[in-house]
Formats: sequence, structure tokens, C-alpha cells
Amino acid sequence: MQEDTPKPLSPPEAAPPEAPLPQEPVRNIKDFTLEGLTDWMKARGQPAFRARQVFQWLYQKHVRNFDEMTNISKDFRELLRRHFHLGLLEVAAVKESADGSRKFAFALEDGKLIEAVLMPNNTHFTVCISSQVGCAMGCGFCSTARMGLQRNLTTGEIVQQAVELARQAHLDGDDRIIRNIVFMGMGEPLHNYDNLVSALHILQDDHGFGLSSRRITVSTSGLVPGINRLARDDVRIMLAVSLNGVTDEMRSRLMPVNRRWKIAELLQACRNIPSPNRTRITFEYVMLEGETDGLENARKLVRLLHGLKCKVNLIPYNPHPGSPYRPSTPEHCREFQRVLLEKGLLATLRISKGQDIQAACGQLITGIPAARGAKRQATTA
Ligand code: SF4
Repeated sequence: MQEDTPKPLSPPEAAPPEAPLPQEPVRNIKDFTLEGLTDWMKARGQPAFRARQVFQWLYQKHVRNFDEMTNISKDFRELLRRHFHLGLLEVAAVKESADGSRKFAFALEDGKLIEAVLMPNNTHFTVCISSQVGCAMGCGFCSTARMGLQRNLTTGEIVQQAVELARQAHLDGDDRIIRNIVFMGMGEPLHNYDNLVSALHILQDDHGFGLSSRRITVSTSGLVPGINRLARDDVRIMLAVSLNGVTDEMRSRLMPVNRRWKIAELLQACRNIPSPNRTRITFEYVMLEGETDGLENARKLVRLLHGLKCKVNLIPYNPHPGSPYRPSTPEHCREFQRVLLEKGLLATLRISKGQDIQAACGQLITGIPAARGAKRQATTA
């Protein structure tokens, strides 16, 4: 029997080329709350305290480079660098007021500009920060409204404004700390609800910025669903409501948001905030000559706010080029305030800071051309 000729061995099949590992995008580490960062660390076998350490470096020591995190191993810093950037903001311009306030224009990664203001007091700083690029609310007396809404800020972009302002203050050798943050810069904060709330977590976290809820004021034009959500989610902040009118007709003329949510609905949402978190609400009232400042409006304001734990903050109008409105005289503002006080309503008259640099309330608008090719500064060095 003829033996079968052995068949030549077929060459081994070539191994399929190794599929590249899916690459995770490099993310802004400041978009993470402490809880989120802790989960990320745990998924990589790290203890929870590692996230707390990183948080302190980010928000208390304002590091600009992962290598400054000296109590974290080199290998782990390298891992952080591969997955995250530090979300730094480029200072595109600074203007200083005679009263010591400084307005910063920050360039975002996409070249858009936002503004934030650092305001000195005797013992501390208050900062005013933005929540959106531009604003959709269209309030007639506000410069920012003219930009329209360009986009929401991310959580990281919101908190980095406070971090950068704290760093700027320290760069000058000033050891005063930031004690108050007000969301009265560009944008309607409740229109960017999720990112706002994450930013509030970071700003209030003891390992983060460490501010008490009474030191953070969120100002809204009156987005009723947002106020309801704050109440439902038990978000603790000081609430300021931009009221600016005592009848729907008057308020709708100044603030288009009132065509959707009328004064009665707005005030009901304020009354519905559960009492444990219903700290004194501030109602802001801009003093426009012949428009809002009639003394009969002061009396109507008293009736509207009856029974609400609140105060009224009268805001002298800061005119800007092209505005159809004129400011009330200081004497008239004081007269309006006197009527409120006589009727038992707590009322203050705001001293606007930074008026000479267009940094006062309603004046934030980036008149600076968008920074060409603006980029994160040395985010991953
Ligand atoms: S006042 Fe506030 S809510 Fe109204 S347009 Fe200006 S930034 Fe937006």
C-alpha cells in the first residue's frame, strides 16, 4: 500500500493585528464632584482618600501642574495626566476699577470669552462668576443679553473662575480669602442647572473650595422650574430673584421670562421652598427712572412680598452704551428705600462695585474680540 505522501504543513495563520485599545478622551478633572472622582479612583483600585487629596490640590492649593501634587506617587500622577487636564482658564484681559475691583476676561478652550469679577472688602473677597457664555433671557436692561446664548459653561469652567480669581489674588501677595461667591455674571444659572449644581457641590465641599451654603448666592431671572428643582433637590444656597417689576405688564416689558412665568407663579415657587432651606430670599429691583422707580411701585412691592421671608435689594442702574434706560437719582433711590423700610420691608441699596470698568451688575459683556486660537494654558505639564 502506498503510503500517503505527507501533506506539507500549512503555515501558521497570521495572528490578527491587535485592535488598538479604545482611547478615553482626556477630560477636565474639574468637571468631577468629589463623589465622581472617588468612583473613578475606586475603579482603578485607589483608596477614597486619594480623591480627597487631589481635590485639596485643585481647590485649596490651586495647582497648575499634576507634578505639584507631591503627596501622590509619580506613577499615579502620570495616570492622572493621561486621563485628565486641569481645566485652566487663560486670562485674556484684566481691567481694574478705582475701587479695587478687577474684571477678568477668561478665554475658554474654544476661544469664547467669559467675564468674572474679583471684589475686595476689608477682610475678604467676593467674586462674581458666570454660568453661561452670553444669556438667552433677553432682559432689556442687561448688556449680556445682547450677546444671546452661545453655550452653557461646563462644571469645570464654572469652578475654575473661582480658583483662578483666588490664585490671582494670592499672586499679588494678598492673603485675604474668597468668602462669598455670587452667580451674577453672564448667564442664567438655572438655565444650566446640572452643571451649576455640580459646581455648587465642589464649591461647598470641605475638601474643595469649602464655602458654606450661606456664602453662595445664585441669582435667577425667575425660571420657575429651576426654583422648583432647587427645592426638590434640597440644594442649599442663598437665592436671589431678579424681580424688577410689580405688575406683569411692567415686568414682561423688561424681562421676557415673565411672559412665560408670571409674578404670581414666581412668588408661589419661592413660597413653596421647604422652610428648612428657605433662608431669606433677596429680591433684586433695578431702579430705572420713570420705569420702575415710582413710589407707588414701592407700596405695591410691599403688598406683593407680604408674608415672605425676604429682603429687597435696590440696584442703582448701571447704564451702558445704547441702553434706552436712565438711572434713578441717588435721592430718589433713597426715597424708594425709605417707603419700603417704613412699611416694615427689609430693604438695602446696593453699592455697585466696578462701575468704571463695566463690571457692575448687568454690565458684563465681552467687548473684547474672541481670543484667536485661545488654548488651555499648560494644562498637562
Ligand atoms: S440680567 Fe441675568 S438673566 Fe437677564 S439677560 Fe442679563 S445675564 Fe441674563
